Amino acid sequence: MYDFPKAKKSLGQHFLRREEICLRIAALLRAHDTDNILEIGPGPGALTRALEIGPHARLLLLEKDHHWAVERQLLAGPRTQAVLMDALRFDWQRISAQRPWKIIGNLPYNVASPLIWDIVSQASGLQRAAFMVQKEVGQRLAAAPGTRHYGALSVWTQSYARPRIEFSVGPGAFRPPPKVDSAVLSFEPVPPEQRPAHPEALARLLRVCFQQRRKQLGGIFRKAGLAFMLMALDEAGLTYNLRPEALSVTDFGRLSSFFAAQPERVRQGDRA
Ligand code: SAM
Repeated sequence: MYDFPKAKKSLGQHFLRREEICLRIAALLRAHDTDNILEIGPGPGALTRALEIGPHARLLLLEKDHHWAVERQLLAGPRTQAVLMDALRFDWQRISAQRPWKIIGNLPYNVASPLIWDIVSQASGLQRAAFMVQKEVGQRLAAAPGTRHYGALSVWTQSYARPRIEFSVGPGAFRPPPKVDSAVLSFEPVPPEQRPAHPEALARLLRVCFQQRRKQLGGIFRKAGLAFMLMALDEAGLTYNLRPEALSVTDFGRLSSFFAAQPERVRQGDRA
């Protein structure tokens, strides 16, 4: 067990106190001696220590809290480097096929969803990831079509990676304890050729559809000035009365290709 100074709520600081949980999370990366590993939000370093004793070539830590970034750098092992920075501002495109990395973190709850959204879609060289998030966010990331938690975050993430809920962690494992349960997920990227060909179109489509998830697709598209998308539904063999949550990741991929092929109509829809 570790002891800590006062945690900052604004930075989502709930620190892991149990080494065995850190070891279980670290193991999900399936690290090798040659791997570059990036940890988001190392804080007092419980997960960092589990990573440092495991195989890796290089360990990079991104920490927004000055206190912890300095401490991590002071105590860093020979292959570890701590950087004071907001992970939301990191250029994830730097993680390319030529410079692959594994990414891990007990993520601050307030930024977990946008971070994962950016990482899976922009870090094309992502080899594997493991993240601890609020349980409800974990359920959304891994949700199947037709279920309560299925939404834009599920479709987007699953277009790029296969998220899997590995285990849950109760509030007692942290100091201070959060109000909710947490979930640890692993992410296996999908092969590059299966990733969305038109990410901007997919993002826009998801926004339009899931803003009104209880409505039927035909009504959603007509109201958004995108009636031409009814043809896309016809082509995909989908009926107008379906709700967005009934569509699979593949369905959204097909609809977004159709959407991207109609830039002029999309612009007209913007003006409608
Ligand atoms: N890894 C440590 C652990 O498991 O005990 C700390 C996890 S704590 C839930 C989240 C950590 O992320 C904190 O250290 C916090 O300062 C840091 N953090 C919060 N927002 C951040 C951001 N935008 N970029 C980088 N680090 C951030």
